[in-house]
Formats: sequence, C-alpha cells, structure tokens
Amino acid sequence: MAAGSAGWFVSPSRGRRTLEGMYRDLVEYMAEDPAARYKLIVGSDSQLRQELVFVTAVVCHRLGKGARYYYQRVRHRRMASLRQRIFYETSLSLEVAGDLSRLFAERGWRTVAAFQTRNVPHLGHEFVQKMAALQTDGLLIHPVLGEKKAGDFRDEVILAAYRALVDGYHRPDRTVLATMAYTMRYAGPKEAIHHAIVRKNFGASHFCVGRDHAGVGAFYDPLAAQREFARYPDLGVTPVPIGEVHLCLRCGGVVAADTCPHGGDEVRPFSGTRLRRLLTEGGAELEELVRPEVAAVVRSFSRPFVAGAR
Ligand SMILES: [Zn+2]
Repeated sequence: MAAGSAGWFVSPSRGRRTLEGMYRDLVEYMAEDPAARYKLIVGSDSQLRQELVFVTAVVCHRLGKGARYYYQRVRHRRMASLRQRIFYETSLSLEVAGDLSRLFAERGWRTVAAFQTRNVPHLGHEFVQKMAALQTDGLLIHPVLGEKKAGDFRDEVILAAYRALVDGYHRPDRTVLATMAYTMRYAGPKEAIHHAIVRKNFGASHFCVGRDHAGVGAFYDPLAAQREFARYPDLGVTPVPIGEVHLCLRCGGVVAADTCPHGGDEVRPFSGTRLRRLLTEGGAELEELVRPEVAAVVRSFSRPFVAGAR
C-alpha cells in the first residue's frame, strides 16, 4: 500500500520532497523567523473521478505572515463505502502527523508534558507546569481556543496572558506555547481522556490532568477525571495528576498542599472566582496570585470575559 509518508510530498514552490526533506524545509522555514508563531496543519481529502485519489496536505502556517505548503497524492482502488474513505483519510493524516511529530521529537525531546488550559495562568498553574516539566524534556502549553461558556476568559485574553507568562518565566528551549481550536464539552472524566488522546497525537508523552478537569460547576467529583485514567492503562500517554496547590505565607511561596503543614490565615487558595474579581477590580492581593506581566495584559482588555447569561 502506497500510503502515508512513504511517497513524495510536493511543494508548489520547492518541488518534490521526501518526508525527511519536507521536515528539513519546515525546520529551515521556522528558523528564518524564530520569533513568529507557527501552526502545523495536516489534513486529508479524497476525490473520486476515473480513480480514487487521496490528497494529504501539510501546511506550516507562520501566523499572520504566510505559509509553506506541501501535498501528497495517493491513488487507491475504489472503496465501497464513504465511511471507508473517511477512515482512510483520517489514517493518512494521522500517519503523516505521527511521522512529523516523531521527527520533531528527535530534536532532543523524547518526552513532552502537555498542559491543557482555558484560563489565564496564575502562579499555581505555573508551579504545576514546572513540576510536570521536571518529569519530561519539553513542556507543551496548549490552551484551548474556541467556543466557551459565558464568564470564561476570552481567547485573546488567554493567549496574550500566556505569551506574557511564557516569555517571562518559562525556559524558551524547553517550552512550546501552541493553541488548539476545540470546543469544550464539559464532559469531565470522559473529556479528560479525549484531551489526553488529542495531545498524544500532537506528540505529547505526558498529560496534566487537573482537579475537576473539563468539569462544570459542582457536577463531577473533582477527582473523577484523574481516577478515570486507571481504566485506560493502554492509552499511550502518561497522566500527570495535578494536586491542590496553594500560596503559603509560612512556607514563603506556592506549594503543593500535600507538602505543606500549614493552614488557616497562613494559606491562600487559588480561587478562580477571587482571581477574576481581582483581575477586574485590581488590588494589592493580585500580586499573590498572578505575575505582574500577566495581570497587566489581562487588565489591558476592557472585556476579558465571554459575554452572556451565566
Ligand atoms: Zn506552608
């Protein structure tokens, strides 16, 4: 079967390339402007005329500044059903995406921890990201952009806040900030598993599972999502359960609650509600919760939240 990455990739501007050749082109392209943000998109489609032809496209999009484009054609004997064609299209995309992410991984990152988020980062998130990154070679900070519920932070706010955090407080050689277009389903444990599988397809080996991951209100048991992973030992991605984190004035910083013996007035929890209020109204306590650069970015937006009935 002449499927996937075995054949030639064609670039309208650069001609025929092997998979490795295309990979080298892409690395070179991204090295031309390392400060830019890039999005790598892989997709397949099929056309039935005289024969059945599958086309897999690889697009490296330099955000706001053009793109580089490759495609691969695979001929196939006729397929009886549309469903079979769709499965084949999907398998072609996944194969190319998998091969490319393997090549990128060979740059030195054997393991990558993915951090899913739909919030502005507070100091607790940063602590957790750094704890996860200790277990792996690289950290993928992967905010979800797309439809959200009323009262959530707007996409532009989340992205701008994360840029400020990553630029100021994460190691550039070990951190990637990328976005994912995705509509949250708030399906709790099941969605947590789905999030992990998607990140595995992005090349992650580890996935941070928050308390009440993809939950809504008090609908799910906060630990249900983390427990759910025990039911899928063959997932191929290692869950990194995120415990409770708080600011402890006695310990003198952000700590895992499980490691801190203090309580009462000495301890400040990271409450989303409190963070929203302080980010809207300002106040000295804001510094306890977020980096000043992050607070400044969020406060520069006049409408940081998704509008609508709560
Ligand atoms: Zn303490």
